[in-house]
Amino acid sequence: MIDQVIPLVYLAAAASFVLALKWLSAVNTARRGVIVGVAGMALAVCGTLLKPEIVSYRWIGAAFVVGTIIGVPMALMPMTAVPQRTALSHAFGALAAALVGTAEYYLRTPDIDRFTMGALTLEVLLGFLTFTASLMAFGKLQEILPTRPITYRNQNVMNLSLFGLAAGAGAYLVVRPENTWLFPAFGAMALVFGVLLIIPIGGADMPTVISLLNSYAGLSAAAMGFVLNNKLLIIAGALDGSSGFILSVIMCRAMNRSFTNVLFGAFGQVQAGAVAVEERRTVRSATPEEAAGILEAASLVIVVPGYGMAVAQAQHKVRELYDVMAKAGVEVKFAIHPVAGRMPGHMNVLLAEADIPYDKLAEMEEVNSEFPRADVALVIGANDVTNPAARHDRKSPIYGMPILDVDKARTVMVIKRSMNPGFAGIDNELYYMDRTLMVFGDAKAVVGGIVKELAGGAGR
Ligand code: NDP
Repeated sequence: MIDQVIPLVYLAAAASFVLALKWLSAVNTARRGVIVGVAGMALAVCGTLLKPEIVSYRWIGAAFVVGTIIGVPMALMPMTAVPQRTALSHAFGALAAALVGTAEYYLRTPDIDRFTMGALTLEVLLGFLTFTASLMAFGKLQEILPTRPITYRNQNVMNLSLFGLAAGAGAYLVVRPENTWLFPAFGAMALVFGVLLIIPIGGADMPTVISLLNSYAGLSAAAMGFVLNNKLLIIAGALDGSSGFILSVIMCRAMNRSFTNVLFGAFGQVQAGAVAVEERRTVRSATPEEAAGILEAASLVIVVPGYGMAVAQAQHKVRELYDVMAKAGVEVKFAIHPVAGRMPGHMNVLLAEADIPYDKLAEMEEVNSEFPRADVALVIGANDVTNPAARHDRKSPIYGMPILDVDKARTVMVIKRSMNPGFAGIDNELYYMDRTLMVFGDAKAVVGGIVKELAGGAGR
């Protein structure tokens, strides 16, 4: 009976994962996607717990308690820490796959066929390297480790040689699995390679790398599915592997970077010198009251949210601003840059949380042609994604990254706390333009001030 139920439960779980991915790809169905994905995973876990091979539930219970103790605080991390939280999840998932592979190797050797051993070496190689690489990515994003790329002579040659050595050891084990002495060395090489892989990559490229690591963790899980002859693991791992890869490609395109450039290009170095020189230039600033006066007189305002809006948790105030301007007859649009914030879809999530209508959100490609007819481009805590240097300054580290053309609007209003740079660590020439007004302050407080002024004006 149980033997017939488990495949059905697995089938339902696999269908849930496919539907979850489908629904997660659009803002208005994303919440449903999350719920269905979680339900699918719960089904997968329950189906597995029904398996007659389980000898004792005691260790599973203990792992459940430890997992809950670690998982609950992780889930409560703030939205701005989601990239590093995701890196940690990948690290744990990959470690689990690598450890299962290791246990299977020692349990089954020497009676292990070549196909299974091939899948097992792939699982362990990807699992261990993803584990250390994800921990490194976590450290860089959390700024426990230096975020700048660390490079040295012949780095790529050395890294590729180590990878070649590990792959060679894996291939030898497939042919001669009885050489158990080689297995720990094989695992250790994978662990070291994971660390070396991340060292030359700058913090700004970490999200792309994390989605690539997501892909590796998924492939490792799919390989584990072949080792354990578990079809659900193969399906879920393949979905994870391919979706992670697609996301990396989308992010590379959004930043106009190639994969090889992300992996070997040492991007994200902070240009401290450039910042220090630019700081002496003058900017025009305005108060929230003056900003409100300009916004009130506008016909079209394009709001450009960025990481600062997330830090300030200003999305609900932004919603109030939208309401009050819309009521005053101002047309308001929201321009969404694909890498604004610190994770893909960051701005969409925050604006959806504040119930800003989806049809007011415009992707970069469609909104860029509208900036020349906008009276005001209102930049709220965004910086790098508006920097015109990306278009023309070949020496800039963000050169080639598509940006939102806010500098083409009649007036540019920038809300941020200081002249400090954004994530890429570079100055923004937008702030020194004649038609740019800086409204200095915390985004929530400034937007709140503007709303108060506009609402007061409407009542006068
Ligand atoms: P940036 O990081 O370029 O700039 C954010 C700006 O927000 C800062 O200049 C900061 O200035 C301001 N800020 C911070 N806190 C506040 C606050 N409380 N109130 C008002 N302003 C505030 O953000 P963008 O969104 O423009 O660009 C994203 C950058 O992050 C890009 O370089 C992208 O490549 C990178 N990235 C993107 C990821 C993604 O997947 N979306 C992930 C990781 C990195 P000040 O301190 O003066 O207030």
